[in-house]
Amino acid sequence: MIRVRDDLQALEGYHSPQVDVRVRLNTNESPFPPPAAWHDRFAAALADVQWNRYPDRAAADLRRAIADSHGVDPSQVFAANGSNEVLQTMLLAYAGPGRTVLTFEPTYQLHGHIARLVGSTVVEAERAADFTVDVDAIRAAVGSAAPHVAFLCSPNNPTGLVEPPANVLALLDAAPGLVVVDEAYAEFADWSALSLVAEDRPLAVVRTFSKTWSMAGTRLGYAIAPSWLVAELDKVVLPYHLDAAKQLAGRLALEFVDEMGARVKHVVAERERVVEGLESLPVDVFPSGANFVLFRPRSQPGRAVWQGLLDRSVLVRDCSSWPRLADCLRVTIGTDDENSAFLDALREVLS
Ligand SMILES: *Cc1c(COP(=O)(O)O)cnc(C)c1O
Repeated sequence: MIRVRDDLQALEGYHSPQVDVRVRLNTNESPFPPPAAWHDRFAAALADVQWNRYPDRAAADLRRAIADSHGVDPSQVFAANGSNEVLQTMLLAYAGPGRTVLTFEPTYQLHGHIARLVGSTVVEAERAADFTVDVDAIRAAVGSAAPHVAFLCSPNNPTGLVEPPANVLALLDAAPGLVVVDEAYAEFADWSALSLVAEDRPLAVVRTFSKTWSMAGTRLGYAIAPSWLVAELDKVVLPYHLDAAKQLAGRLALEFVDEMGARVKHVVAERERVVEGLESLPVDVFPSGANFVLFRPRSQPGRAVWQGLLDRSVLVRDCSSWPRLADCLRVTIGTDDENSAFLDALREVLS
């Protein structure tokens, strides 16, 4: 029998179990579809695509639209198939065999996972029990790991915590290599590292259309980074990786910034309502700047609470067996009715 690469034998794939339920609050998608007017614009534009031709390899219109939305130059935008492909491309270019990648755990599993897939050594620094990390711990971790790529995730998945600006600055100051701030949920938070991106700084900020933009089905993400870094990523990614439909979908979505902004505001208000509801129950709640909330039941094991919710057809993410997250569950903010159904079900399970 043929054998996979030695370093892949012990690795497991990434799993996010899907179960058929009435209320699905486990994968941090937007509960709202994109605006109806976007559907119409997209359908009309699709009719004009020349399907026998390769798409625009540079995705120039899409890149310009993304650049304009952030007030940067199109040469500072790298787009790919979901932010996961952005992360993979960065790790192929700047990590890989013989190189080291630093994460602050617990955080988004795919940072370490993709780093291992491309053959890098992953060093996991530890966050405190409340999932924060301080400047001294950041300096110490960088000092011993000397990472070629260092990750922060803000707001952090799965904890929801927004990284203080001082931490990003400390990491930039100490790290000898590339600093990546994964901001998949930044629109739900008060602070972003985008303002720190500059041509003379090895910082990349990664965003996605999957969460805020109600377009997880599109698979589109991007980085804002110095143009010299984007040029290296362009070398590494496969030619024509962004299909014509995706380029249109993303560009047209950016014509509906106000509608998306309204959705974000609504989700944030609902998040505050869910947090209030959780705080009235026997659970520990972690402060969230994202479209999800991490909580830990105090009176029952997390797994039992997860099952109790599932028995009531409410699916949340079971993090209870993940390292450092004993008994923790993560609930995505859904529609008003879904959030109420979740709170009602949880009240029942815990009573
Ligand atoms: C959901 C998520 C992503 C999204 O990835 P896509 O490939 O863009 O769907 C990236 N980073 C974090 C931290 C996430 O939670």
